[in-house]
Amino acid sequence: MLNNKKVFPYLLLAGQIISMMAVIPMFIFGEVWQWAITIAVYCFFMLSITVGYHRLISHKAFKCPQWIHNILMVGGGLPFYGPALVWVANHREHHRYADTAKDPHSPYYRGVLRAYFLQVLSPINFKYVKDLLRKQIYRDQVKYYWHFIIGYVLLLAIIDPFAIVYGFLAPAGLSKLFGGLVFTYSHRGRKAHSDLWVGLITLGEGFHEGHHKKASTHRWHTLDAGGILIEMIDNDKRTQKA
Ligand SMILES: [Zn+2]
Ligand SMILES: [Zn+2]
Repeated sequence: MLNNKKVFPYLLLAGQIISMMAVIPMFIFGEVWQWAITIAVYCFFMLSITVGYHRLISHKAFKCPQWIHNILMVGGGLPFYGPALVWVANHREHHRYADTAKDPHSPYYRGVLRAYFLQVLSPINFKYVKDLLRKQIYRDQVKYYWHFIIGYVLLLAIIDPFAIVYGFLAPAGLSKLFGGLVFTYSHRGRKAHSDLWVGLITLGEGFHEGHHKKASTHRWHTLDAGGILIEMIDNDKRTQKA
């Protein structure tokens, strides 16, 4: 049931909506130390997406030890972005047709609201992830996707029920609210843009123009936090020389 292709995207969407709404109680009740945890988890989620799902798995821009790959996969899946197979298929299709009528989340052709809030409902073309479909780990992530989320929520509930908000939902919601800017604002006027403030709050993802020019590059800007992290964890000397 939970892996049903028709239900899965709507469950992701529900999770994204709940997590964005969870930012409100965080602003009302959150204490300074809880905000510190929210920001730390936000950085983990955001780096898992931009470094893991995006640069490592979608574009193979660098190599790293398997255990780091696996941690990034978990961090990319937890905030309701879906399994890597789905995210990567959608993202590679976006590169193939960026800012044209076939771009799955072009704000111009699909509308800003759809590109910002509903990109998780885009039809997925798995022909873009034939390489990933051959690997058991990516298929297993689909199979056990909700187990990780439920397990993490239960763990937080045992520690402190409000930790579900400051340790999970609020950082996931903030990552969605800020990350959505890359799908929309960074593709305004039917072209990719790099904006310093979007690049900084998304830990590099918003330095988007350079990325579209050369998708296989691991670092997109001097202040690209994701690119700096890659240079620390890289297994492949070519990124050191870049
Ligand atoms: Zn793009
Ligand atoms: Zn990309």
